Amino acid sequence: MKQKILLVEDDPLLIDIYTTKLKEAGFEVSVATEGQMALELFEKDKPNFILLDIVLPNTNGWEVLKQIKENKGITKVVILSNLGQKEEIEKGIKLGADKYLIKANYTPSEVVEEIKKLL
Ligand SMILES: [Mg+2]
Repeated sequence: MKQKILLVEDDPLLIDIYTTKLKEAGFEVSVATEGQMALELFEKDKPNFILLDIVLPNTNGWEVLKQIKENKGITKVVILSNLGQKEEIEKGIKLGADKYLIKANYTPSEVVEEIKKLL
C-alpha cells in the first residue's frame, strides 16, 4: 500500500516540484496551500507524512503543528521551511515535528531522501 503524504506549501513552483518528486518516489500526494486546509486534509486522509511549510497565508505551520500535536498518531511531520534560526528549529521539534529541514540546505531529491529515512 502506498504511503500517503500531505504536502503543505503555498509556493506554486515548490508544489509542482515536490508533487512530482514525491509521486516518483511512490507516495500518494495531497496538497494544502494553507493551514486550515492542511488541518482538514489531515483529519480526512490520516496521512503517514506531512511535509510542512511554516510561512503560509492565514493559518501558519506553527498553528497546524499545535493543533495536530495531541492527535498526531501515525503521522510523521517533516518541517521544510526557510526559517532556520536555532529557536525556530527548537520550537518545531518541541511542537512535535520529527524532522526540521531548512529549504536552502536541501535539494528536492534530498528532501525526499530525508522523508524516506523516516519510513
Ligand atoms: Mg511558504
